[in-house]
Amino acid sequence: MKPLLLAAVLAAAPATPQKPPAPDAGLAQAAQPSLTVPGGKFLRARSGNTAVAQMFAPGIAELSLAEKRVAWSLTLAAHAGEDIALDQLGWKLVPAKQLLEGVWLFGRDAQSAASGFDGKLADYLLRFYGHGGNHDSTTGQKFVPAFTAEQLAAGASRALKAGAPWTVKDEAALQAWLQDLKPTLFDASFEPQLTSKAPPPGQDLLTASSNTAYGPGVTQKDLVGFKEKYPLNSRVVKENGKLTEQVFRAGTPDGKVKPGLYAKELSRVIAHLQEAMKSAEPAQKAALGKLVRYFQTGSPKDWDAYNIAWLKVDPKVDANLGFIETYVDPRGHKGQWEGLVNYRDTAENQIMVLMGQKAQYFEDRLPWPQKYRRKKVSLPVAKAINLITSHPEPPAGINLPNEQHIREKYGSKSVMITNVMDAASAVTRLPLALEFSRTAEDREQAQKYSVTARKWLVAFHEVLGHASGQVDPKLKGQSPSVFLKEYDNTLEEARADLVALWHAFDPALAELSPDHEAIARQMYRDFLVEGLTNLRRVEEGNAFEEDHQRGHHMTVTFLEEKGAVKQVTQDGRTYLVIPDYAKMREAVGELLSKLMVIKATGDYEGIRALVQEKGIHFDPKLRDEVARRVKAVDVPTVLLLNSPRVIPVLDAKGALVDLKEDTTQAFVDQHLERSLLGRLSPAEASRVAAKVAGSPDAVREAFKELGPDTAPAPTPAKKGAAPVKSTP
Ligand SMILES: [Zn+2]
Repeated sequence: MKPLLLAAVLAAAPATPQKPPAPDAGLAQAAQPSLTVPGGKFLRARSGNTAVAQMFAPGIAELSLAEKRVAWSLTLAAHAGEDIALDQLGWKLVPAKQLLEGVWLFGRDAQSAASGFDGKLADYLLRFYGHGGNHDSTTGQKFVPAFTAEQLAAGASRALKAGAPWTVKDEAALQAWLQDLKPTLFDASFEPQLTSKAPPPGQDLLTASSNTAYGPGVTQKDLVGFKEKYPLNSRVVKENGKLTEQVFRAGTPDGKVKPGLYAKELSRVIAHLQEAMKSAEPAQKAALGKLVRYFQTGSPKDWDAYNIAWLKVDPKVDANLGFIETYVDPRGHKGQWEGLVNYRDTAENQIMVLMGQKAQYFEDRLPWPQKYRRKKVSLPVAKAINLITSHPEPPAGINLPNEQHIREKYGSKSVMITNVMDAASAVTRLPLALEFSRTAEDREQAQKYSVTARKWLVAFHEVLGHASGQVDPKLKGQSPSVFLKEYDNTLEEARADLVALWHAFDPALAELSPDHEAIARQMYRDFLVEGLTNLRRVEEGNAFEEDHQRGHHMTVTFLEEKGAVKQVTQDGRTYLVIPDYAKMREAVGELLSKLMVIKATGDYEGIRALVQEKGIHFDPKLRDEVARRVKAVDVPTVLLLNSPRVIPVLDAKGALVDLKEDTTQAFVDQHLERSLLGRLSPAEASRVAAKVAGSPDAVREAFKELGPDTAPAPTPAKKGAAPVKSTP
């Protein structure tokens, strides 16, 4: 096998000349493509600690016409569900978005230079879209705009006069609406934490969390003994003191299953899926049909049937649509809407092929007790992909489905997302690897191997990491998460990383590159760089809340305690160094084995002790130092990714005949367009997308033409206040 292509992310300006990127008003413009500027062609915009990086869509032109049609319809389906995700993250976020979009399109300040309003609104919209609401998606902490409520009110009045398509029609109604949204938008102490893991006195994990997985007043105690019929896709609320589930579903056409929560949005999703089915190959068509059925009924059985069908097909264009990840729910049950559409990256696929072929070989070499190794590992479907669109902001790799009973019987699909990793490596990872490398030699190695080491880590994490191991029969088929509860995600993420670190030095990787050992050493160093630099993600306090970060910190602390990693201070800078790679690998194996035994036996006390002792608390002085250094090299701490915009080319009858890639659209403009397209029927969405691509002003006109979206179901404020209707 040929050595893995070492993607030179900093080299190679776009092959064809492109239009200059459209500016995000108020945001610093990125440097032009260059061979030396960190970030190169990937960096699109900077706003404070946030950067926008561009994802590209190499090879999309080579998809067949049928594949392009499927890709486009799935993309529209993903957009159509985005308001669901937003509503899941906060009680009034959908009307808040409608307000902000209206002000942005119709009410910007002509004297902006004096007030600074337009720039501040651009910044806030960028974060609002990027984090899917008003809580930082990594720390879960609320953020508020830099403009004042008065400035927003003035902008809203201008927008109303200019014809912003809201349901409020006069100034008095507008003022009432603004008042209603004021705490959500401007009060940092109102609903401060998206997902609480340490509730203040008098509250519990549910009441202290601002997401909408549970209705007002529903407590953990209420839920003891309450068995949900739709654990993944319902909101549990109290009606007349009784708990009920509001199921996310569109209802069936025959009326046998009634519409539920999000019926409007799911009906739009379904229309696009049915359009995709017209061009899909038979097996994919059948799978999409099952997804339609699930969105109609909301039934877990239909979700299982879809996942089984989805696992059996491997089309070039594929998607993850549905209620999938459960990180936001403090109980870890409710799935958040996700819409990711992708196509296979043939060039980057080699490592995935190797893992597929050698899955059993790698399983047999894991360091934990033999009885917890899988005896017959079926070849996982593993591939390298590029994303066309993503909501929420995309990860670097995915392994699905999450349902353990399906994984055990039917396996799982793993992907490594190449266009995300390339953009992220160029803009954030490489500059950090350079700053936190102690020696000139380490820096040189990082330049050479970091990007590949990252791809290998993610590939192992997703393909073999999560899929590895089997649990003890004494769990009687129950998922370990039932036992490990709030520590389950933390354990699982740490375990998957450790599998990657364990296998990194395996001689089988020589097939991929003659430099495989140097790449493995780079992977180890980069893992520690990430552990150190994660500290600056928690701006206040001295405790990690997020599952991945807790798992990472637990691992680094363990390695330090074992003496496999040492803190070295040089010229006032702290580094984590590895005196002996063999010793570090040994410690990696020890912790990995511990975690697998805990998972296999559902040992809650075991994981609780590990996470509490090693995964949460850190030295805030070290964090301050790290934050200073990250700031000094001006590495963005938050990376938002601009999807490659695809533009439909239509024939005279409105049929899609091609897809064109455009990488010049600004981040805010892209999300405005998604908001717009997400509300349209398949034919209308294609027509409007083609029109908007030709003229940026067409977005305003299209919003006006469309008129107000009907008000979402009234949702009471969380803190036990009387229900307040929010009318856009
Ligand atoms: Zn993972």
